[in-house]
Amino acid sequence: MLIIDKQRCTGCGVCIERCPFNALTVVENMAQVDEAVCTLCGACAKQGVCPYEAITLIREKRGKDATPLEAYKNVWVFAEQRKGVIQSVVYELLGKARELAAARGQEVWAILLGHNIGHKAHELIARGADKVIVMEHESLEHFEDGTYSNAIARLCEKYKPEIVLCGATTIGRALIPRVAVQLRTGLTADCTGLHIDGEKGLLVQTRPAFGGNIMARILCPNHRPQMATVRHKVFAEAVADSRRVGEVIKEPFDTRDHFGMSRVVDVVEILEDTVNLTEANIIVSGGRGMKGPENFQLLHDLAKALGGAVGASRAAVDEGWIPYSHQVGQTGKTVNPKVYIACGISGQIQHLVGMQSSDIIVAINKDPEAPMMKIATIGLCGDLFEIVPELIKQLK
Ligand SMILES: Cc1cc2nc3c(=O)[nH]c(=O)nc-3n(C[C@H](O)[C@H](O)[C@H](O)COP(=O)(O)OP(=O)(O)OC[C@H]3O[C@@H](n4cnc5c(N)ncnc54)[C@H](O)[C@@H]3O)c2cc1C
Repeated sequence: MLIIDKQRCTGCGVCIERCPFNALTVVENMAQVDEAVCTLCGACAKQGVCPYEAITLIREKRGKDATPLEAYKNVWVFAEQRKGVIQSVVYELLGKARELAAARGQEVWAILLGHNIGHKAHELIARGADKVIVMEHESLEHFEDGTYSNAIARLCEKYKPEIVLCGATTIGRALIPRVAVQLRTGLTADCTGLHIDGEKGLLVQTRPAFGGNIMARILCPNHRPQMATVRHKVFAEAVADSRRVGEVIKEPFDTRDHFGMSRVVDVVEILEDTVNLTEANIIVSGGRGMKGPENFQLLHDLAKALGGAVGASRAAVDEGWIPYSHQVGQTGKTVNPKVYIACGISGQIQHLVGMQSSDIIVAINKDPEAPMMKIATIGLCGDLFEIVPELIKQLK
């Protein structure tokens, strides 16, 4: 609820400029809120906006009048699409969502937002969705966090899902915390494990904490939906079955959900390697041991000979030797290739959390005591500037 303190308000109108929804007006020297338009976004109630501290936003607490938790049903997956292409993390989430829904005796729903996107719903059904909510509008053509989060929060309020899953992608990370805030519920980011607690039926959300030294199990017992983001490649993709049938629910876009604070003018893509790091089956990664940007050409040559992609440690990225899009680890990408070749990377925990599930790890390092050598399937102890050229020569 938005409260305007009549004793303090002078009708100065500063708040009107801050409202993205044109929900405020000044009538007879007093600010007034149009409750039909106000989304309770809180922009006007932020500290420092009203010079007279006359506006307060009171968030509703879960009380005895709130929707009972049992009314929330089904497992939702946000179907992230870019330029009309469903992202593979969605298929991974659908696979996990099927397990969770089966444990709860519920359905899997996918939420697809975009412009002229409805024809993609069948792909989501084939990968495990029982129902797909499709919302199409030109305002949804490009991802815009405010508009998307308003629309999804409204859908959640209408259909009341028990669980909402989203990829921990750049889009997912910008989007889903905003939805959680609007719904006044909890969110666990970057989960590496999800399962249903057999006793209470709660979603157990496992994620590394303290640099990967502990695995925290997080519950959201008192609020719904239970929300989690999951990184790409953590779960296996659901296998497509074109015989599956499901229902498509078309939901209209409510123009009040258009956020309007920002506008996508253009989408500029960073041209990465021909092979996407997170999709690659073979990754050749370089760290501080590469000694300079020019030496990364060696890794590109090795990756090319193997048909793989080039990754990097944060040390190499921070030095500016290779762009951030190549970084593997806690603050970079999580990868799960068949073969990961770490060249001059010591293997600090923040790097390991992003690649330790690789099938085969090859460490090339001068230091036999380096942590990467300890976890490697094959450790090649020596100077990478001798070993890597020799490998390329042999492969060629
Ligand atoms: C909050 C936080 C988040 C982080 N996120 C990430 C992340 O996402 N990804 C990440 O990578 N790091 C991350 N880090 C940084 C991480 O802690 C390490 O500092 C970093 O991974 C070290 O990179 P490195 O192994 O390349 O360098 P170093 O630790 O300096 O290791 C260099 C290695 O190269 C070997 N070497 C040197 N010369 C040669 C040679 N000629 N031949 C063979 N071997 C050689 C050395 O023996 C050494 O083992 C994060 C840190 C923090 C605090």
